[in-house]
Amino acid sequence: MKAITTDFEYLPATTLEEALDLLSEHKDDDYRIIAGGQSLNTAMKHRLIAPEYIIDIKGVSDLDYITFDETEGLRIGALATHRSLEKSQIVREKYPVLCEMEENVASVETRNWGTVVGDLCNADPAVDPAPPLIALDAKLKIASKGEERTVAAEEFALDFFETVVQIGEMATEIQVPVLPPNTGVYFTKYSQIHGDYALASVAVRITLDSKKDKCTDARIGFAGVGSAPIRAKQAEDVLKGKQITEALLAEAAEVAKTEISPVSGIEGSADYKRDLAGTLMKRVGKVALERAQKA
Ligand SMILES: Cc1cc2nc3c(=O)[nH]c(=O)nc-3n(C[C@H](O)[C@H](O)[C@H](O)COP(=O)(O)OP(=O)(O)OC[C@H]3O[C@@H](n4cnc5c(N)ncnc54)[C@H](O)[C@@H]3O)c2cc1C
Repeated sequence: MKAITTDFEYLPATTLEEALDLLSEHKDDDYRIIAGGQSLNTAMKHRLIAPEYIIDIKGVSDLDYITFDETEGLRIGALATHRSLEKSQIVREKYPVLCEMEENVASVETRNWGTVVGDLCNADPAVDPAPPLIALDAKLKIASKGEERTVAAEEFALDFFETVVQIGEMATEIQVPVLPPNTGVYFTKYSQIHGDYALASVAVRITLDSKKDKCTDARIGFAGVGSAPIRAKQAEDVLKGKQITEALLAEAAEVAKTEISPVSGIEGSADYKRDLAGTLMKRVGKVALERAQKA
């Protein structure tokens, strides 16, 4: 068995180009990227991982941004912290659900250091930003030296603590499109302790027609109820093209319960989490509908 050593070589980058060069040079080495260190440091402290190289991107200030324009929508750079998203005026105005979500992520201390992209890259199955980003039809930009690609938020995490980001790559940006008119979005999570990871969380987005009568589009994202966050497409189909009532939301929630795969743990059984997710979805859907009607 290989002995675990805590020694590592520290490689700070100050520009995206430098970071991508370091990732390319160390493709064959055991390296880890560090941003705010809130999850990585914990994993290293517990000796769960012991990388030989740490590529520090915290100094890459060209990735520390949150911007919005009416064509492109919202752009969140890889170094934007939870706290900067929570406190962004433009985000509160255009995508209030993201600020509401952030208010319940961990503690202020963790939100001050931890990046939103780092949270998604850590890929805890209960990661809070995933459901609202899925509901908002967001994408993640992933870069390596000389190449770039984007993936849908619902395809980013593959399994427990595993994402589509490959060796030599890093996630650089979250892209959220402009919302269509008559759209409402809401998110909630249930956790036993305030600010803890969710037992289940859900975001629902509803877009209504010009008469605000029928649902023209719906998107639903869950976290905490599977090995990775998921988009409940069959439940979305239940809502599309119909007038949304509490009965229809209840029907969609029953369908969503068949799309998720919660795992039993000390904090609750799989059946409990499935029921919890369905109940949350009905409540969240109701608020999303009210918001769409007022939009
Ligand atoms: C006490 C505590 C409570 C928490 N509670 C919650 C909670 O309720 N909800 C929630 O959603 N989160 C929660 N978190 C997680 C927290 O939000 C994350 O630790 C933080 O956002 C991670 O960001 P970071 O910049 O610190 O990432 P780091 O810790 O630096 O990195 C995390 C992982 O992502 C990788 N990584 C980082 N940036 C990139 C990148 N740009 N490209 C590719 N890979 C990258 C790293 O290699 C590492 O594997 C909690 C954390 C703590 C410590």
